[in-house]
Amino acid sequence: MSNDIITQWLNLPQVFVNNIDIVGNTTIIYLAREGSKFVCSVCKRTVEQGYDSRTQYIRDLSCFEYNTYLCLDKFRIYCPCCGVRVEELGFARVFSHCTKRFEDYIAKLCSILPVSQVASLTGLDWKTVKEIDKRYLTEKFSCPDYSSLNILAIDEISYKSGHKYLTIVLDLSKTKVVWVGQGRSKATLDKFFCEIGEGNAKNICAIATDMWDPYLASISQNAPQAKVVFDKFHVIAEYSKMIDRIRNEEYSIASESGKKVIAGSRYLLLTNEQNLGKSQKERLKELLDVNETISTAYILKDELKMLWQCGSRKEAYSFLVDWVGKAIASGNKDLCKFSKKLMHYSYGLINHAIYPINSAKLEGVNNKIKVIKRRSYGFHDLNYFILKIKQGFP
Ligand SMILES: [Zn+2]
Repeated sequence: MSNDIITQWLNLPQVFVNNIDIVGNTTIIYLAREGSKFVCSVCKRTVEQGYDSRTQYIRDLSCFEYNTYLCLDKFRIYCPCCGVRVEELGFARVFSHCTKRFEDYIAKLCSILPVSQVASLTGLDWKTVKEIDKRYLTEKFSCPDYSSLNILAIDEISYKSGHKYLTIVLDLSKTKVVWVGQGRSKATLDKFFCEIGEGNAKNICAIATDMWDPYLASISQNAPQAKVVFDKFHVIAEYSKMIDRIRNEEYSIASESGKKVIAGSRYLLLTNEQNLGKSQKERLKELLDVNETISTAYILKDELKMLWQCGSRKEAYSFLVDWVGKAIASGNKDLCKFSKKLMHYSYGLINHAIYPINSAKLEGVNNKIKVIKRRSYGFHDLNYFILKIKQGFP
């Protein structure tokens, strides 16, 4: 095949194919350049004279079964504006050893595969793969559009043990992550509102979130018109933690036979009954028969879930008052404490009747972020993890 055809096939500006070599499973395409003009990588000015040069191998898309490298002399030039600088090649970033199209391919692979698999598929080092993907994503998310924010969800996730959190803002109408910030304080969320600007903040009509005062303080300061909604997913998750506390307390005061029934029952209490197997259901029934406090907390959990089915705020409020009455009547201190909290935040619980935010969606997002965390946080690169979260919900 003539070099002219391969030059045409390569489709790269200002270079032509001089020679081709095959070494093992690698194809090396030797390139020469047309003319003697260079581009300064800093000011983009065209420069006539090279300063010095070095032979460089640049990885390109594979050719059949061969890893393919382009080999050419890369110049440093003397730019009248910037001094001695590296030249810019139109088809590769200044300090990269890969062509732009190969990097785009790597980034596409990284959107569907873990970095380690992309590294083994392409024969690149995982650090190189990660850096390529990170650069691609940084560029992709560099100009966010906040103009159509309307219904949001604000959530926190822990990214490291020792109370390291990220605040995640989700556009619920598009299920898109619009912003991620470090921490979960009022100042963290204030940064989000500062970034979107007052005009966009005014368009927000509802925000689903946790009963977490720092967020609530920031919302009431920056988007006072937005109705706060405490969604089922977050409230029930908190209730489940309380059931687990009750279970531990009951275990510590139980008789030997009671301890046997309570031991190892965490999963039974926290899983929806319809997802339990036959023998698990039997064990759960035995536990609920034996321990009245656990049984009451368990039954009240199912009842509480009905709160989010109320069709009006009035109906929701009277349901809540009724439920709280039952919880307090149990006499259990954890249930009483939880009830007080629900009454304190009742405004956001009953707002669900006017903004019925999809709790399954929030739970799905939360689970997906956990998967992304497992995949990408192994690199201990928080910024990369944040970019991968944004990519997960485009
Ligand atoms: Zn220059």
